[in-house]
Amino acid sequence: MKDYTTFKTGGTARVLIEPETPMAVAKVLRTLTERGEKYYVLGNGSNLLVADEGIDAAVIHIGRNLSEVRVEGESVICQAGALLSAAANAAYKNSLTGLEFAQGIPGSVGGGVCMNAGAYGGELKDVIDWIDYALPSGEVCRMDCDTADLTYRHSFFSDKPYVVTAACFKLKKGDSDAISGKMKELAEKRRDKQPLEYPSAGSTFKRPVGGFAAALIEDAGLKGTSCGDACVSEKHSGFIVNKGNATTSDILNLMETVKEKVFEKSGIMLEPEVKFWK
Ligand SMILES: Cc1cc2nc3c(=O)[nH]c(=O)nc-3n(C[C@H](O)[C@H](O)[C@H](O)COP(=O)(O)OP(=O)(O)OC[C@H]3O[C@@H](n4cnc5c(N)ncnc54)[C@H](O)[C@@H]3O)c2cc1C
Repeated sequence: MKDYTTFKTGGTARVLIEPETPMAVAKVLRTLTERGEKYYVLGNGSNLLVADEGIDAAVIHIGRNLSEVRVEGESVICQAGALLSAAANAAYKNSLTGLEFAQGIPGSVGGGVCMNAGAYGGELKDVIDWIDYALPSGEVCRMDCDTADLTYRHSFFSDKPYVVTAACFKLKKGDSDAISGKMKELAEKRRDKQPLEYPSAGSTFKRPVGGFAAALIEDAGLKGTSCGDACVSEKHSGFIVNKGNATTSDILNLMETVKEKVFEKSGIMLEPEVKFWK
């Protein structure tokens, strides 16, 4: 799985399935459910840690095979394997505003919906019109944004055995120069502030109530702390980065140290944003 996660860690999965149509996704779900087999859903692997010893589960990869993006009027309709950057670029090319914030988030549309990904004051919740998803019963259904329980880095899909197959973003007509200007400005901010030169999963921890994880980690004196090749980034304390050959265990151990020290210093218990498959 290290070839499928942006942390570049993790052992093997029992089987990797890459369906090519939404109905194929539903069929795979039904078959795995009928056989009582455990499965995980993988998007672009940019918010994920997989156990070093591997996972005894099937992985359904919603990626390039399901990555069509089309624009209809003011809507950008994406299959779930499309990258958020592709959705944002399609919006820009059609002078549609509203997805600029998502351009630098390295996830898929499905992963983004599941996590309600957001940045720089925007989140997918603000622009989703509807979501298509496959059920273990073998059906594909549509849900409105309002029903999807989209809150901070959480959605209806976070704890359910469903697979997002498509999403529609409802945008507004805008000025293409202003849209590209905004995307460039945000990309520059990311390059300035984030350690993009190293593998990571972005912010390791969620933003706690009444604070910022990065500030709490820095205040606890943890900048640069490492475990093997896993290291609290010097550039952005909210990121744990893989400086070479870190394992998932190194990253998890470092996360535990960070949680303990931050709790000792501030009384705040950080909660991982990164998902862990074991
Ligand atoms: C450098 C860097 C910067 C980042 N910056 C941001 C940021 O600014 N804002 C932000 O919100 N996040 C950020 N992230 C984290 C990550 O990109 C987002 O959480 C993203 O939404 C994850 O999408 P993914 O496709 O990679 O999902 P994955 O990592 O593959 O999966 C994440 C979760 O979503 C589920 N999932 C994935 N696809 C589907 C699907 N089709 N149906 C149902 N469930 C699915 C998985 O089962 C898992 O639980 C960053 C990551 C990196 C590496």
